[in-house]
Amino acid sequence: MNDPILEFNPKLPKLSANEKAVLKLLVEAGKLIVPIYLEQEKQMKDEISEKESQEVAKKDKKILSPYTVVEKIDGKIVATPYHIKYAEALKPIAEKLNQAAGITDNKAFGRFLRLQAKALTEGSYEEAIAAGLQMKPYILDISIGPVEHHDDRLFFAKASYQSWVGVVEKEGTTRLNRYKDTILEVRRKVLIPHQRLENYSNVKAKVDDVILFSGHMARTKFVGVNLPMNLSFVEKYGSEVTLFNQINDLRMKEQILPTFNKTFSSAFKKGFSKEDLRRASLRYVALHELAHSYLYYKNAPKNLQDLLAPIYELSATVLGLRMAGSLLLKEMITDKQLESMIVVFICRCFDLIGKSKGGKSWLNYATGGAIFINFMLESGALKRLGSLTIISFTKIFLSLHDLSSLLEYLLSSGTRKDAEYFIKKYGQFKNLP
Ligand SMILES: [Zn+2]
Repeated sequence: MNDPILEFNPKLPKLSANEKAVLKLLVEAGKLIVPIYLEQEKQMKDEISEKESQEVAKKDKKILSPYTVVEKIDGKIVATPYHIKYAEALKPIAEKLNQAAGITDNKAFGRFLRLQAKALTEGSYEEAIAAGLQMKPYILDISIGPVEHHDDRLFFAKASYQSWVGVVEKEGTTRLNRYKDTILEVRRKVLIPHQRLENYSNVKAKVDDVILFSGHMARTKFVGVNLPMNLSFVEKYGSEVTLFNQINDLRMKEQILPTFNKTFSSAFKKGFSKEDLRRASLRYVALHELAHSYLYYKNAPKNLQDLLAPIYELSATVLGLRMAGSLLLKEMITDKQLESMIVVFICRCFDLIGKSKGGKSWLNYATGGAIFINFMLESGALKRLGSLTIISFTKIFLSLHDLSSLLEYLLSSGTRKDAEYFIKKYGQFKNLP
């Protein structure tokens, strides 16, 4: 496999000499994540069984921390904190961050970088997360270190080393925040089940032009994230949605457009330009990430266990598409834009189903994609005609409502058995193209 690193050269707004110098150091720091992540990939291969670890975890809590390496040494299971295990590789990264902190003319950003450096070498992650979330918006953006992700939200999940470095895109960020505020206002009117964590008002949002993706992010190529994952941190400090323009462009080219071309009739395809689809792709991911903030059901991980991820990820998209309905009603998006989002998501589902052989986390997404397609085929919102797919947008919208009720029921009060039954019924993809 190739190195987990992606570099871009986007057209940037005019940066000051100081910002340019800081940015250069951030990119250098971000690149140094690569060898650590490669080491983690190697360790994932000689896996210790979950059962085995749970046994030992009764005596040693460190084993369950997302920030430890668990290894078998002389037949004994040992957990070593990341910052100790990778101390040597982390030192130069912290140095770069401290150097950047020393020259930046933005005081709050400098403080954040120092805490980030300290988190890497001392394991004080919470302090750095808090500083990042409490900071005023700044044009330069960096995330660096071990991060937990939705896709591997399992009992025995370990955080993966990653970095992204970007420059905040003003126009996209303003638009995203307008969507966020409107959805918030609409959501406040609906009944909220008490199990849900209410951090609605504490969500930040930004769109980045990406310079660098490295480590875990370069493998998964997420177009958007909503971080942190840790619920107690979210309760205390809120969360932040970040979208990545260049990763979206990459996904369009590599996945969405090829699938679009072979899935729909030429008459249908004429109705959608590349640009419609590109914007729609970013938009549905934006709504997916915002929707995550409305789906923090506290008991869901305990109730659904290993089946949480596919249910949780699909719920976010389905709720996101329903929230797009609110944006349509407020005339913030057009019918065409909403339809484009549905088209792109259908392409994404087919693409994920094809990817399901790429490992466990892709299987989670593929299962979600299969549930969506099968559910829509059953309701008549989608039809297959030979190798082509035909969409009824009105029926999709009616079915989205049913699907999201089912998914939210599973998240709020379903059992693992309920989820298993549901996935057995809708999550199969052997019959799908
Ligand atoms: Zn997600």
